[in-house]
Amino acid sequence: VSKEYLQLNGIIEQLLPLLEADAAVSGIDVVTDLQADKPVFVDAKEIRQLILNLTRNAIEAMGKGGVLTIRTRKIDGYVNMEIIDRGHGIPKEAHDSIFTPFYTTKDTGTGLGLSVCRSIADHHGATIQFESDPAGTTFRVEF
Ligand code: ADP
Ligand code: MG
Repeated sequence: VSKEYLQLNGIIEQLLPLLEADAAVSGIDVVTDLQADKPVFVDAKEIRQLILNLTRNAIEAMGKGGVLTIRTRKIDGYVNMEIIDRGHGIPKEAHDSIFTPFYTTKDTGTGLGLSVCRSIADHHGATIQFESDPAGTTFRVEF
């Protein structure tokens, strides 16, 4: 693991062509609102994996069409990133299970995406939280 001081916004911008191509397959537009101008001490490779896992889940939850938003903010010296979808949401009874390895509700899912996200967040002393209702889900990673 090799960490360095990097702008999260730069990592996201670098990934954007890939994310937009992934989303376009489902007719989804990606909107960014990148305002966190403070460097974070991160392993860029791990952070790319984290973002891809969250955005893939978001795209899979949305089906066809809609807008996926990626937002960064700096609040009280903390940098946070939100992945906001307008998908089907996560039912309450699943909230305690989604980070468990191999938990999946998908026919061909591995159930590993979010457990990897949690490990990556842990490696970075970051937190990962979510809010969800039947109109969509927001995952927030705070550094
Ligand atoms: P997988 O994507 O392979 O199923 P994950 O660990 O990435 O595994 O996600 C676990 C489960 O959490 C998913 O199967 C799905 O039920 C739920 N989930 C994760 N992200 C979202 C999301 N953005 N919207 C709705 N459900 C989600
Ligand atoms: Mg997944």
